[in-house]
Amino acid sequence: MTEIISLIKNKDPEQREFHQAVEEVVESVKPVLERNPEYRRQAVLERITEPERVIMFRVPWLDDDAQVHVNRGFRVEMNSAIGPYKGGLRFHPSVNLGIIKFLAFEQVFKNSLTTLAMGGGKGGSDFNPKGKSDGEVMRFCQSFMAELSRHIGPNTDVPAGDIGVGAREIGFLFGMYKKLRNEFTGVLTGKSLDWGGSLIRPEATGYGTVYFAAEMLATREETLEGKTCLVSGSGNVAQYLTEKVIDLGGKVVTLSDSSGYVFDEEGIDRDKLTYVQQLKNIRRGRIAEYVENYPNAVYTPIDPERDYNPLWAHKADCAFPCATQNEINAKDGENLVNNGVSLISEGANMPSVPAAVDLFIDHGLLYAPGKAANAGGVAVSGLEMAQNSMRLSWPREEVDSRLKEIMKCIHNTCVDASESYGAKGNYVAGANIAGFVKVVNAMLDQGLV
Ligand code: GLU
Repeated sequence: MTEIISLIKNKDPEQREFHQAVEEVVESVKPVLERNPEYRRQAVLERITEPERVIMFRVPWLDDDAQVHVNRGFRVEMNSAIGPYKGGLRFHPSVNLGIIKFLAFEQVFKNSLTTLAMGGGKGGSDFNPKGKSDGEVMRFCQSFMAELSRHIGPNTDVPAGDIGVGAREIGFLFGMYKKLRNEFTGVLTGKSLDWGGSLIRPEATGYGTVYFAAEMLATREETLEGKTCLVSGSGNVAQYLTEKVIDLGGKVVTLSDSSGYVFDEEGIDRDKLTYVQQLKNIRRGRIAEYVENYPNAVYTPIDPERDYNPLWAHKADCAFPCATQNEINAKDGENLVNNGVSLISEGANMPSVPAAVDLFIDHGLLYAPGKAANAGGVAVSGLEMAQNSMRLSWPREEVDSRLKEIMKCIHNTCVDASESYGAKGNYVAGANIAGFVKVVNAMLDQGLV
């Protein structure tokens, strides 16, 4: 089984995040392959780690001064065994093929866990929306969709948002798709409510991550009431996650962006959260401004010399990383464990390095990997697709209660899968095994394609 790791490393030596994601899954599913020699004969690991299709394209666009720029666009269609490719688009300067492949790979297992019929894919660009005007973002999105539109469709591949792609970008992308194809269909999710979006979709990832945390706590007869929580990020996921923690009686004391973080010992209440939402979503400002409004809070800028993130070094009960991959390094992991954190539920995709994950599991923390904990976002995207197909829209309560039910089901599936392979309490093993078995069985049912 280690052969598969050397195989993918030799094929694409520079795709470090992809290797990391594959290594974690391979480690978890070893006992599954040992019990099922047929899986080995069928080369399921070789098949599941090779994308069904990779699309890479030029995205030329004009800035407000009529200067031409060129970015690179990606869509990795990883696996369609259980449904059309589904997964977000990320616009961020760090984007490259390795990052998109790791995200697409994670998405396959995440989507499988949701109980809905969605395959896995991911896309994006190294375009940086930060500091760009609405016109520039629109022209970029239109150029991006001019190519992407050939490859996607409501029954083929349904993109959505991710870092740097929110309601504004989805609007521009959808408008261009509709114009090019002359079709009003549910080809993207995360749409605005008035033209095909679903209630609760903006909230879903953050809420779902908290619902998952509540399920984990319930196994120890605990709740979030009175718990101090560290949250990183300040985008869509972090914002709605904070709202749900407040709803359930917890206290969020940190938020961050790529420049630094704020620590508010008194807790970020509803009013402060509304301020953050204005700041981030409307003014598109920096989290540093928070302390101008709330002077009791402390802002710490990122110090590139420091080998740990002080955000994770505060005393707390729970941690919710909602920023980006590998944001929790081994030292951050140690700080979390030493400072009494007993629950980590990941709103971001693969935010903890493997050494930190091992530490959390060895110390018996309630640790939920992103592919299980943050699956609520794509789950409600699946519900948006269902509503689009029926040309109906469900009330808020209905979507929220389905989301809650799905998160509970993912939790129980992880627990059952981990138990049946002798790894009780290990949500990483549970999520990987359950996600893997469903997709692999579907692949085998459909023959060698
Ligand atoms: N980008 C989100 C994720 O990581 C949502 C994907 C979707 O809704 O398709 O799961």
